[in-house]
Amino acid sequence: MARYIFITGGVVSSLGKGLMAASLAALLQARGYRVRIRKFDPYLNVDPGTMSPYQHGEVYVTDDGAETDLDLGHYERFTGVSARQADNITSGRIYRDIIIKERRGDYLGATVQVIPHVTDAIKEFAQAETEDLDFVLCEIGGTVGDIEGLPFIEALRQLHNEMRDDTCFVHVTLVPYIAAAGELKTKPTQHSVRELTGLGIQPDILLCRCEKPLPETERAKIAQFCNVRKSAVIPALDATSIYAVPLQYHAEGLDNEVLRHFGLTAPEPDLAVWDDIVDRFQNPEGEVTIGVVGKYVGLQDAYKSLNEALAHGGMANRVKVRIKWLDAELFEQDDAEIAAQLEPMHGILVPGGFGERGTEGKIASVRFARERNVPFFGICLGMQMACVEAARNTAGIEGASSTEFGPTDEPVVGIITEWMTAEGLQQRSEGGDLGGTMRLGAYEAKLAGNSHVANVYGATQISERHRHRYEVNVAYKERLEKGGLVFSGMSPDGLLPEIVERPDHPWFIGVQFHPELKSRPFEPHPLFKGFIAAAVSQARLV
Ligand code: GLN
Repeated sequence: MARYIFITGGVVSSLGKGLMAASLAALLQARGYRVRIRKFDPYLNVDPGTMSPYQHGEVYVTDDGAETDLDLGHYERFTGVSARQADNITSGRIYRDIIIKERRGDYLGATVQVIPHVTDAIKEFAQAETEDLDFVLCEIGGTVGDIEGLPFIEALRQLHNEMRDDTCFVHVTLVPYIAAAGELKTKPTQHSVRELTGLGIQPDILLCRCEKPLPETERAKIAQFCNVRKSAVIPALDATSIYAVPLQYHAEGLDNEVLRHFGLTAPEPDLAVWDDIVDRFQNPEGEVTIGVVGKYVGLQDAYKSLNEALAHGGMANRVKVRIKWLDAELFEQDDAEIAAQLEPMHGILVPGGFGERGTEGKIASVRFARERNVPFFGICLGMQMACVEAARNTAGIEGASSTEFGPTDEPVVGIITEWMTAEGLQQRSEGGDLGGTMRLGAYEAKLAGNSHVANVYGATQISERHRHRYEVNVAYKERLEKGGLVFSGMSPDGLLPEIVERPDHPWFIGVQFHPELKSRPFEPHPLFKGFIAAAVSQARLV
């Protein structure tokens, strides 16, 4: 039977509970245990699919097509275990399911209540699909004491009461440094633990985020007032890189303490792979600069996985990747501005995005990359813009555009039902419901045997994750190919363009999917590895 580790947060948000959960899971995995991590989000959205990237950061998509919290990206990157729909739940989803059942009369006249109906649903979710696992780590979003988090805390309390020794509570807190006093302060941690015990939960381990080393006296004080063993007060100093966190927590004894709590003995973890990752990250042999021409450049969380995948590409090539976030809108008027900003770049990447704003700037960046032979990587909207650029500037289709930006006579990109009459294609619902109208999750693609991408992947059959409504219009294939943009990857039925490339360019690839979602530090995605390798060559040329 699986053992459960519940991770809560106190004092403030943004303490890095997700990274902490991912790192602990990686450490347990390195000791030979089978792990899975789950995220409980107390907000009322059914999923983060409709939330603004500015507010909530990136939407992480799983193979089975779930739109989930970006913490699931950390979980995958640190454990290599592919996340599923079953690994992320929100209050919104729970309430929706309960209300559907209630309307159907499933509750046979009973009063439907937070306890037991909502708490039971949370418990069921925590325990579903956990056969074959040694540890299930459950991270609760938000901060202890939040009104919307209460049903989750209550469900955990009940699970603990039912499973006793098979559960462990890890509470992540902040020990702030007060410069005026020159001291680290333990009071917020004490208050936050008191809040938790008031809800019936005694934490077993405290992970104390601090910006200065925690003196032994303060550690002892926290242990005494919070009723935990001193060795279970784990200091968590800010790390130099997120990939150093597992090693750092191990050095502080976190995984030991967890095993001790469960009364388990296990061999020391094999951390060679983490040592190698940190070494590659901290001791690069060069540096390249990648210009990312996007829309949400003000908030890095909006492109979380992309950021990480570029770093992985750097580790694979032993170089540091410096990312220059460029606001596409700035490129809309002025060609001189484009050249000034893009000339110093060793590679240009146009990432995914929604809506028309900034797209003319993205198209201009594609053109710059094509004409100047700078390595170019277009992802999702980035590929679509590469196709519009090709249509306008190399195939003579002046009015080429995407129907996402309004009606056009030349829909080089469009909703498939707008331009496809071929049989066998599913007509997608385009009703008023914004959730659920996208192509989501893993789809296969076939790559042309003699193509650059087949070479990059070392395969001609791939599966990648999608999240988009619009598709490149296969009716324009011939005309775009004459202009030099080759459709080198297609859906297995040959109807949906998945990859385009330029054989006459050093490195020019556009993909309809999101490869960044599947890149891992110990297994960098081949496209990012290849793109950074091309940027390294570019850096040596200039
Ligand atoms: N807006 C485009 C679409 O819906 C691209 C989406 C994306 O880049 N993820 O097809």
